[in-house]
Amino acid sequence: MSTPFRVDVDDVEFVFFDLLQADRLLGDTEEYGELDADTYRATLNEIVRVATEVLHPINASGDREGCKLDSDGNITTPKGYGDAWRTMAEGGWIAPAAPIEHGGVGMPRIVSLVTNDVFGAACMAFMMYPGLTAAAARIVDAFGPGATNKMVAGKLFRGDWGGTMCLTESGAGSSVGDNRCKATPSGDDDGIYHLEGEKIFISGGDNDFTENIIHLVLARTPGAPEGTKGLSLFMVPKFMFDAEGKSGARNGAKVVGIEHKMGINGSATCTLALGADQPCAGWLVGKEREGITLMFKMMNEARVGVAGQAVATANAAYNFAVQYATERVQGSTLQNFKDADAKRVTISEHPDVRRMLMTMQVLASTMRSAVYRVALGHDLVSTSSDEKANEAILDEMDLLIPVLKAHCTDLGFEIASTAVQVYGGYGFIGEYPVEQVLRDSKIQSIYEGTNGIQALDLLGRKMRTTSGAVFMTWMQKAQASLKEATAEGFETQCAALGKAIGQLGGAAMHLGQLARGGKIDPAFLQAVPFLKTFGVVLLGLEALEQARVAKRLIGERGESPLLKRKVLGLDFYVANILPGAVAYAKTVTSGDESALDPSIFE
Ligand SMILES: Cc1cc2nc3c(=O)[nH]c(=O)nc-3n(C[C@H](O)[C@H](O)[C@H](O)COP(=O)(O)OP(=O)(O)OC[C@H]3O[C@@H](n4cnc5c(N)ncnc54)[C@H](O)[C@@H]3O)c2cc1C
Repeated sequence: MSTPFRVDVDDVEFVFFDLLQADRLLGDTEEYGELDADTYRATLNEIVRVATEVLHPINASGDREGCKLDSDGNITTPKGYGDAWRTMAEGGWIAPAAPIEHGGVGMPRIVSLVTNDVFGAACMAFMMYPGLTAAAARIVDAFGPGATNKMVAGKLFRGDWGGTMCLTESGAGSSVGDNRCKATPSGDDDGIYHLEGEKIFISGGDNDFTENIIHLVLARTPGAPEGTKGLSLFMVPKFMFDAEGKSGARNGAKVVGIEHKMGINGSATCTLALGADQPCAGWLVGKEREGITLMFKMMNEARVGVAGQAVATANAAYNFAVQYATERVQGSTLQNFKDADAKRVTISEHPDVRRMLMTMQVLASTMRSAVYRVALGHDLVSTSSDEKANEAILDEMDLLIPVLKAHCTDLGFEIASTAVQVYGGYGFIGEYPVEQVLRDSKIQSIYEGTNGIQALDLLGRKMRTTSGAVFMTWMQKAQASLKEATAEGFETQCAALGKAIGQLGGAAMHLGQLARGGKIDPAFLQAVPFLKTFGVVLLGLEALEQARVAKRLIGERGESPLLKRKVLGLDFYVANILPGAVAYAKTVTSGDESALDPSIFE
């Protein structure tokens, strides 16, 4: 018997209502003032229902079945995907944050994140389709070709059409600027460009449940400079369409291959040929050579989305493991292990299994609060006219997003692996759900900018924003929280966190000195350990905030298992996870350059 799907609603509610007070903060805004706690609770209940009844039932079957491609370039998605899409579209779940006039529910971004979290836990592969469609819709809505952008965005937001993001080519993965795809004006003054080239690894490159598909394609116009500055963005439909969106003839964008992969098998990963056997028409989005700027506008959001996927799969893995561990009987307690007649106990009684479960629980929840916090920041910025405050929030988000994307996705994979370990041999077996979670979650550290690229972005750009002032402000804010928490009785935990923050600051200074001294490769050799130092500290601060709120609530409402575990979670984090930050910082400042020695791979 496999383990049932379960969502820890109490944890989601603790983070949303108690920790972040999202309902109160958003309640003060004009845009979301009418949404109250009851509405958010009802929405969460519905999200959990859809996840349990609609999405989770197609998770394992979709993984086994995968997608199929026919010779005309049409994809067949796994059984049940079409019905699930229609249910999601009818419920407004394709893009819950989309404006109501576009068929969305008009929810704040943080609710989208909650949706991502719960739906992604139920079926990550399926959620690739709405995730990319919503992202494409937002680009088209904001920058799409004037005459049709609202109509096309509406079709995407409502789920009538699907959307994709087409950056990657065989010679242009992390190095987006090496894109070779060409876009040539038709010369007929009709706004049409002809696209030629091939894009690979395109998620949702085709499907069998939407009327049309809008590909957003990065390509180079004639005479454009090399590198990212020469790239423009184009809207390329699968079928041509009229002003009302009625689909017409087939356009020359065709799927010519499909990948057989390690995970997310229900998500079609396609090779898309543009203009290979018939002309491929595209319309400019934004202006020529603005492509990368437009993509970057979406990038932060997409990276938070991938960190959100990690929250989803990490929590799914934890919830499966904790259920299994409290039911699986194996051996007796340590005190009785010599007694062959001693009562057999569940594996959740064994200290090492408890250690694994607590590690998963604490990390999955601190990841959740860190990622929801960024989404809430986005909502507060978009509803406030206080430019100075908005700038400060946006600067901090910019700094933290690569840390969250990389640290959460690395941890998500580790947590899934720990879940397999908790199950023992059964974890390795396809009948149980955690081996799929492990396979599915691996891609999160690779796409949307590999985690190595996130570390480059952090060190090479984000740390240098306003000459390091944003990082310094973040450090000061963290120290101020520690001061408050120390006065609330968390002295020892704050002392440990303070030490780790000091090490993070020291590591940053060390790398700054290396770079200023022209030792660029040695500095970037430590980019990932530096990001990890930052990530461990960041989630440690989340554990502290969770414990502070829990302690206050215990005083107000009395103790509950959830509140107690939040207080204990901080102790666990400080003792078991935080030392990792000090260790990573030691690596950063070690001066070791052995991996750069030219002889080592000869
Ligand atoms: C399942 C799946 C779905 C995908 N979906 C999409 C999609 O919808 N749209 C899309 O456009 N793309 C998509 N991709 C592509 C994905 O974004 C790329 O695979 C990713 O950007 C990495 O590019 P690459 O595979 O060419 O690896 P490479 O760029 O070759 O990287 C290989 C390794 O080298 C490292 N590396 C490369 N350059 C540097 C550098 N300068 N400094 C340090 N390290 C470096 C990387 O971190 C990585 O570890 C998808 C990929 C997969 C597998």
